[in-house]
Amino acid sequence: MTDIIQQARELLVKAKSVFVLTGAGISAESGLKTYRGHDLSWRGRPYQEIVSTDYFESDPRASWDWHLEFRDTARRVQPNAAHLALAEWAKRRKNVTLVTQNIDGLHERADHPDPILFHGSVWITRCTRCEVWRRDYALAYETLPMCLICEAPERPGVVWFGDTIPRRTLELAVLASQDADAFLVVGTSAQVAPASEFLHVARERGVPLIVVNPEAPKGPEGIHLQGPAGEILPQLLN
Ligand code: NAD
Repeated sequence: MTDIIQQARELLVKAKSVFVLTGAGISAESGLKTYRGHDLSWRGRPYQEIVSTDYFESDPRASWDWHLEFRDTARRVQPNAAHLALAEWAKRRKNVTLVTQNIDGLHERADHPDPILFHGSVWITRCTRCEVWRRDYALAYETLPMCLICEAPERPGVVWFGDTIPRRTLELAVLASQDADAFLVVGTSAQVAPASEFLHVARERGVPLIVVNPEAPKGPEGIHLQGPAGEILPQLLN
């Protein structure tokens, strides 16, 4: 183990409460593409256009098709050593809040206790009228899903570009970030607001920040553990 990993381990051991933020990079070693650095366009449209309310409103069937394809891709891959190490550690040491920007369900499949799904999940559907959510594992729909309560059309339970974060989700994440005395940031470019704001909160509060990423981060400074999450996290957390 390198000195810098040992230094980060000691910080985490001393911390009473740890805020963990993950992004697409933690699922890269499972085989899912990250957002930055890949062409995620689909049927000739850029990713940003597909994951938007405008796209759903203009063509709900096509929007659902993209999300059902993502479900199919996500279910074919497995949680990797990083998801598993994080889940085991969170169960063992308690006082860890995981906020993930990922929509793939891999933290849940790694049995992570109560992850905060900051951008929702592709495995959730949400009513367009009464906003009731439900888990849904279908891979195809003959007819598009309707709310079981009020019978209005359902939409994917993903927070799209231009959507606001559901209030309760935001509150839980903000409270955890205020309580934390160490931040662990894994596999995110931290360019998507408001999730990126948590790193500024850490800097303003002077809370130690540990960043696990093969690339040098552009955001606030901290201890940078340079490498893939699947190699670094088992050493850091086990
Ligand atoms: P991003 O694509 O902007 O950044 C990914 C980061 O992960 C990069 O900094 C990259 O250097 C790093 N990385 C790559 N491989 C890694 C590895 N093996 N270990 C650790 N780090 C690694 O992703 P983001 O910051 O999460 O923002 C993208 C947005 O797109 C999010 O809102 C997310 O919801 C969405 N998205 C989700 C998924 C998913 O659920 N798997 C996939 C693509 C996009």
